[in-house]
Amino acid sequence: MSATTKVNLLDFDRAALEAFFVDLGEKPFRARQLLQWVHQRGVTDFAAMTDMSKPLRALLAERCMIHTPRVLEVQDSNDGTRKWLLGVDAADNAIEAVLIPEKDRMTLCISSQVGCTLNCSFCSTAKQGFNRNLTTAEIISQLYLVQRTLLAEGHQQGVTNVVMMGMGEPLLNFAAVIAAINLMCDDFAYGLSKRRVTISTAGVVPAIERLAQVTDVALAVSLHAPNDELRDALVPLNRKYPIAELLRACRAYIDGYNRKITFEYVMLAGVNDSLEHARELVDLIRDLPCKLNLIPFNPYPHAAYRCSEQSAIDAFRDYALGRGVITVTRRARGDDIDAACGQLVGAFQDRSRRSRKYQLGLDQIEGVRLAQ
Ligand code: SAH
Repeated sequence: MSATTKVNLLDFDRAALEAFFVDLGEKPFRARQLLQWVHQRGVTDFAAMTDMSKPLRALLAERCMIHTPRVLEVQDSNDGTRKWLLGVDAADNAIEAVLIPEKDRMTLCISSQVGCTLNCSFCSTAKQGFNRNLTTAEIISQLYLVQRTLLAEGHQQGVTNVVMMGMGEPLLNFAAVIAAINLMCDDFAYGLSKRRVTISTAGVVPAIERLAQVTDVALAVSLHAPNDELRDALVPLNRKYPIAELLRACRAYIDGYNRKITFEYVMLAGVNDSLEHARELVDLIRDLPCKLNLIPFNPYPHAAYRCSEQSAIDAFRDYALGRGVITVTRRARGDDIDAACGQLVGAFQDRSRRSRKYQLGLDQIEGVRLAQ
């Protein structure tokens, strides 16, 4: 039997694995054992999974595989940031994952799609077009591979935080992203607290509503503009889901939780960075529990924008802070290896499929399976 016809067990969260084992006539607790072997111990050889019976191990070896993307390249930045280029299939599609070490945490920024459909005017991923959604296995493999590397290098803890801020719009790949998140937060896999897993979205309102029904991981929203006219131009998805609707969905998402939404706001010189914009923005968000994250624009070849002056960023921040909005400026990390926000491009073949648009993802929102 060729490898490609086997079931990739990295595609399964615990609930899916339990169903899989029950189908084999086994007890559901086999799922927990399997998760620990694979995600915690990094064991891929079924024969070594000694708490399973020999016939079961043989059956798994015959029918299943633990298959991750290929590591094509690892680049180290001067500031400690590390970028993985991962080949996701034979068709030369590649994605990027970025590890950002800080004093008290190791944050991994991961991708959810090959390319992106949303075409935000300032983002270099957008310029690449859209090829396809990543599978659950391809999403969780980014964490799996980086975690294996860190542990092999002697790090005690490995990755402490995951942000879905790499390539793609996570909420347009809903089912696969939820299953991957289930694995990240599962005590038998990575055991990350839901506060340490962040989904970043450009504002797919129905998917935010659906998300609230299945999880309460941290939510970051790429706002970037304080009014619909400007946001329509920067984030075309706004034409479908304008700011008022988006903020309603944000409010509902944290309703009943002691949580804050993070608003991301990329600082574009002369476009959205004046004190007038700051005033408009503060009026919009100040009565919502939130944090404001100012992102200095990271340039790339042929970009149509420049980053705001430091003085403009500081003035914007100080204005928001002065009106009670918790505001931080994100430090650019890994820009010498093109690993900073908006610089991830991966590589892929088919750049012509953006017209299938949001439908691809939105269809999936219905009928997503609830998992623990
Ligand atoms: N699609 C999701 C996640 C991917 S982008 C989203 O829109 O949130 C992660 C963050 O980087 C977003 O806030 C995005 O707007 C921002 N970004 C994109 N290009 C950038 C650039 N060139 N400089 C700085 N931030 C950028």
